[in-house]
Amino acid sequence: MESVPHSETFDPGEGRGLAILGSTGSIGTQALDVVRAQPGRFRVEVLTAGRNADLLIAQALEFKPNAVAIADESQGQKVRDALWDHDIKAYAGDDAIAQLVEMDGIDIVLTALVGFAGLRPTMNAIAAGKHIALANKETLVVAGGPVMEAAQKKGVDILPVDSEHSAIFQCLAGEFHNPIEKLILTASGGPFRGRKKEDLASVTREQALKHPNWDMGAKITIDSASLMNKGLEVIEARWLFDIPADRIEVVVHPQSIVHSGVQFEDGSIKVQMGLPDMKLPIQYALGYPQRLANSFPRFSFAEYPNLSFEQPDLQTFRNLQLAYDALAAGGSAPCVLNAANEVAVAAFLEGSVGFLEMSDVVEHALNAVEHVKKPDIEALFALDTAAREAAKSRVRRS
Ligand code: NDP
Repeated sequence: MESVPHSETFDPGEGRGLAILGSTGSIGTQALDVVRAQPGRFRVEVLTAGRNADLLIAQALEFKPNAVAIADESQGQKVRDALWDHDIKAYAGDDAIAQLVEMDGIDIVLTALVGFAGLRPTMNAIAAGKHIALANKETLVVAGGPVMEAAQKKGVDILPVDSEHSAIFQCLAGEFHNPIEKLILTASGGPFRGRKKEDLASVTREQALKHPNWDMGAKITIDSASLMNKGLEVIEARWLFDIPADRIEVVVHPQSIVHSGVQFEDGSIKVQMGLPDMKLPIQYALGYPQRLANSFPRFSFAEYPNLSFEQPDLQTFRNLQLAYDALAAGGSAPCVLNAANEVAVAAFLEGSVGFLEMSDVVEHALNAVEHVKKPDIEALFALDTAAREAAKSRVRRS
């Protein structure tokens, strides 16, 4: 099936119940901005965080969810103490996050936590029949097949939040029966666009964390600088839209105005455009299929007379090629790629490996971990652990 995932059972009514996983992060806080700007449209049922108890408590006091959870168990008592006389249930630990998504009253789960940690709550939410607004691309990278299969069985929508995938999703509206020739994923090129390998060996964490167009969490910002983010997005697109990798083209577009597009069989290309502002794709996913009026800043052609496009440099930014290769290898390879990349990014952020070495760490893990053709979810958890071990051993050698 080459079309947008869509369920006929999705009621676009008002007062939609939300669970926001990762509410204290970049996507999570912007999702709450959307909720704030659309009074009466959404009910916040569940909020979850990793470690940031203070912000989670402040959000809970403002949005009055039914329940909150924090992954870091050492912060659990603090959150419970702050919320106990506000009739807001508070829990701690990964299991609590994974279980809360099943609660009655939730219509959509926004998965805005970072990394592999998104997989279990997403699978639980699908099993409980909740629609998914998917920001956590790593879930589809690791387990695209099982996730999409489970969603289809349950008749739930996987609504993309990533701006590129939201753009493609929007281009496909009304095109369900028209075959796709290729998907065009745009990439800003990150802060190091145009640089060569010799320029990148000694770039610092601070330089890599300065994205030219988007203000995002640290992990995705580093992934954007190394082009691994685009690689993860190619894999995400493969699963969301059921299109093979050789029909997913990456084009560097430094202004981040054209968010991505689709070329159909007649050669016609549709793209979706707008200012680089994640609130738009977040709102589109949460309000789908309605377009909700808002006062976000508008794009003007007159202010952007020069939109430019160029080929990605796969020699310098090896991560994008590694991701294409992992997708072609299939099976366990994307899971290993993702886990090793999480280790590599953390190591770069703490100064244990250099910028270019992140690709070496990923490549080492891909070679070291035995390939499994069709891993199930349990096998993917074991593969994630094995890939992290392999990646850490390569980091220790640095
Ligand atoms: P942030 O780092 O800003 O936020 C991550 C959120 O997840 C925080 O609420 C954090 O909690 C929580 N969290 C972190 N680790 C865990 C864990 N192990 N268990 C439970 N919760 C955890 O990330 P972003 O918002 O930038 O990104 C979130 C996801 O969205 C990523 O998958 C990213 O690739 C994707 N995405 C992000 C975009 C963006 O513009 N930011 C654009 C497109 C996709 P705490 O703050 O308490 O530690």
